[in-house]
Amino acid sequence: MSFFRSHNDSVDVPGQRSQPPDDLSMIPAWSVVLAIAAFASMQYLVHFVLPHHKPDMLPMRLLMGYSWGTLFASYVLLVGYVSRDVKRRNMSPGLWMLIVIMMPGGIGAIVYFLLRQPILSRCPHCSTEIASSYNFCPQCQFQMAPVCGQCFRGVEITDVYCKQCGHDLQEDQVPARLKAFRD
Ligand SMILES: [Zn+2]
Ligand SMILES: [Zn+2]
Repeated sequence: MSFFRSHNDSVDVPGQRSQPPDDLSMIPAWSVVLAIAAFASMQYLVHFVLPHHKPDMLPMRLLMGYSWGTLFASYVLLVGYVSRDVKRRNMSPGLWMLIVIMMPGGIGAIVYFLLRQPILSRCPHCSTEIASSYNFCPQCQFQMAPVCGQCFRGVEITDVYCKQCGHDLQEDQVPARLKAFRD
């Protein structure tokens, strides 16, 4: 029996696991718009709604408007990020949005980042949901990441010998899509 099943050798870039990007595209447009609105309304609040006692307090008001506006805007962006992040981790979106929004002072967000599950992706072969830490698909044995052929612990794609057991990795029959930088 072969440990290395590889059904679509040409799909993946070697060594890369298919994962959603963790960058600015994770922040939805609605939360950017809301963040700008939050910043603008904070400026309005500070400069036009709050009572002005002394005219020489302008620098103070500018600073207050800017810092509170930035704080609220970042909070809205954070909620937007969580709303997308929660889905790719197979966690309950409603519950976590509620926690992040309702718990004061960003505590909800801290709790979220402490407790969030690993990112899930799909096995390219059988579409089972798998965490990014898996080396093999638990349902079909599709190999997701390079492993040592002797101890089956994860190795780097550039390693020549296994860092755990010293096994010569050149002897392994690694699927072609996981091979990189080898002659
Ligand atoms: Zn699979
Ligand atoms: Zn090993």
